[in-house]
Amino acid sequence: MKKFRHIKIPKAGERIDVDGDRLIVPDNPIIPFIEGDGIGPDIWKATKSVIDNAVIKAYNSKRKINWMEIYAGRKAVKIYGKNQWLPKETVDAIKEYQVAIKGPLTTPVSGGIRSINVALRQKLDLFACIRPVKYFSGVPSPVKKPGNLDVVIFRENTEDVYTGIEFKANSKDAKEVIGFISQKFKKNISPGSGIGIKTISEFASIRLVKKAIEYAIENKRKTVTLVHKGNIMKYTDGSFKDWGYHAARKFFPDITITEEELDRKYKGKIPSGKILINDRIIDSMFQQLLFRPGDFEILATPNMIGDYLSDACAAQIGGLGLAPGANMSYSICVFEASHGSAPKYAGMDKINPTSLILSGVLMLRYIGWSEAAVIIENAIKKTIKSKYVTYDLANRMSGVKSVKCSAYAGRIVKNL
Ligand code: NAD
Repeated sequence: MKKFRHIKIPKAGERIDVDGDRLIVPDNPIIPFIEGDGIGPDIWKATKSVIDNAVIKAYNSKRKINWMEIYAGRKAVKIYGKNQWLPKETVDAIKEYQVAIKGPLTTPVSGGIRSINVALRQKLDLFACIRPVKYFSGVPSPVKKPGNLDVVIFRENTEDVYTGIEFKANSKDAKEVIGFISQKFKKNISPGSGIGIKTISEFASIRLVKKAIEYAIENKRKTVTLVHKGNIMKYTDGSFKDWGYHAARKFFPDITITEEELDRKYKGKIPSGKILINDRIIDSMFQQLLFRPGDFEILATPNMIGDYLSDACAAQIGGLGLAPGANMSYSICVFEASHGSAPKYAGMDKINPTSLILSGVLMLRYIGWSEAAVIIENAIKKTIKSKYVTYDLANRMSGVKSVKCSAYAGRIVKNL
């Protein structure tokens, strides 16, 4: 077992191990958590109490999570010193213990790190950002039938315009890049432009789409849609789409069918045991998710499109406070809410913790503790149905008074 400088390993508990691509989960796993910045401490406290109580409810004392605090963001700087936003031992601990959960982290405005979240994803190669978007009855939504949307977004997490390869307008580097492109490729870029490089690789696209199809198989979903802007960005988004189809043909030739085959061979109806792989252009997708939400199940996307689409879908089912997420590599998985640290609500015990609690639900399913996951989901449903909700939902429900984050979590625990 590794020794750490500031991380205290719990006395009881064991590591989650991996055998090939299978997790071996003891009854008393040690799971690292990052509390997070801003609203992080409030929503983490709420989440921990719900998860711990659900595990007791589901398994009596047979199973227990031994939480191990690890540090990132402001708390890490306090403990480890200047500019230590993401200490090396935090990354090492996640590698060692495989499964972790984190609160949101504020992006530092200075300090040599672009974004702690992006750095964490890159250092651990968490290439798939998985965001299920599903409606809970009773949640106020801006659309008429929010229950028709039930999708899982698989967003590529490591490349696209998010790699941070950028050159500031009028800088020496930007001028050199513009000069090179103009001389070598005879392509015109307006002088004074800022430059960002968009990269999308065959390797990253294929592993993401493969994971999305595996998820569809495991969860008995019938459709995987590749979402892109390949009509314009032909060699990045366009290639993402082509490599996505290639991944389906190469790894799942007997299971996957295309839209053309669906019409020609199966009269428009997906046969049992098959998964339809189709694609949609992102601008049309934003419309179709509103007009025909029931047509979609799994959405596999490049990084930026997945980022935009996740928030749009979350709005459709009632907002960011209800949107969980997971960042996954082959076996390592870090669970987190889709939203940020909402600094203006820090320490107010006000914000909706459901997104992080639902990220905990995803985590419980990932480690195979589905009984506890189901208990939590049912308790959330019951709590929301009884109109016992935080301000974000109460504001949109007539005659409903909001409750504090901790009171809401307490009611979920009561309803477990
Ligand atoms: P944000 O998601 O933190 O908050 C935007 C607004 O959304 C809030 O003011 C609030 O009105 C609402 N909101 C967010 N979470 C909510 C919840 N649980 N319940 C109810 N309402 C909620 O976005 P931001 O203000 O743009 O970002 C704040 C910081 O968080 C930035 O530093 C940003 O970089 C960072 N961030 C971190 C992550 C992450 O840790 N994964 C993700 C996004 C942003």
